Amino acid sequence: MMSALKNYGTALLDLVYPRRCESCEVMLYYNQQNEARWLCVDCLQKLPRMLPPFCECCGEPYDGAISSSFRCGNCADLKLHFECAISGYHAKDAVRELIHRFKYQHELHLSGLLGCLLQKTLEDPRLVTEDVTQWALVPVPLHHARQREREYNQAWELCRVLADISGITALDALKRVRSTTPQASLSRHQRMENLHQAFQVKSSSTLHARLKGRNVLLVDDVLTTGSTTSECARILKKNAKVHRVVVITVARG
Ligand SMILES: [Zn+2]
Ligand SMILES: [Zn+2]
Repeated sequence: MMSALKNYGTALLDLVYPRRCESCEVMLYYNQQNEARWLCVDCLQKLPRMLPPFCECCGEPYDGAISSSFRCGNCADLKLHFECAISGYHAKDAVRELIHRFKYQHELHLSGLLGCLLQKTLEDPRLVTEDVTQWALVPVPLHHARQREREYNQAWELCRVLADISGITALDALKRVRSTTPQASLSRHQRMENLHQAFQVKSSSTLHARLKGRNVLLVDDVLTTGSTTSECARILKKNAKVHRVVVITVARG
């Protein structure tokens, strides 16, 4: 009943305020579903989907024909604490621009579109065989100073949208206790040091009970090196007894 009312309300709003494509601003057809509510057919087709071949562990795309699964040079000698990382798109073109607006230009309404794009990761062969409805969505946390500045954690907003459309429970389980130097400027070793003790599981017994033995989809907007998500996965397993962690992001840098 509530969802019927919600759909009716949305359809009515679309009639009163016709929607435009978030990328090229062309007028959109009335009452579209999912990502087609925000992007026109042309812009949707041009989105840079992440397609194989890519590293089976960290998702690093690979140029050329490789039919068997492989691990890339970046993570072959690295201990990553998540099972694998899955990204829906390359962080370029319209995807890069939409994420930038969502994160830095306060366009919170784009969470609806980006949450739909994030949902594409659930179609990955590594997840389709799983009953992800029993898993939990956990966002990579922001340090509270950064969150105050931005007023929201983009990863949590994505979790909320995906929870709404998929029925998977979202748990805002982690906190960032140490503000860290931007990772891009550091070497791999410095990156690991920089992240040491940066995250904690929130101290709520209900939360711990809900995480124990469960599988987690760790959510972020963009995955770059994988060091931050790996450290979050390590803490979730060590301190909340989470079983497996699969990282899902809208895009890969
Ligand atoms: Zn368009
Ligand atoms: Zn890799």
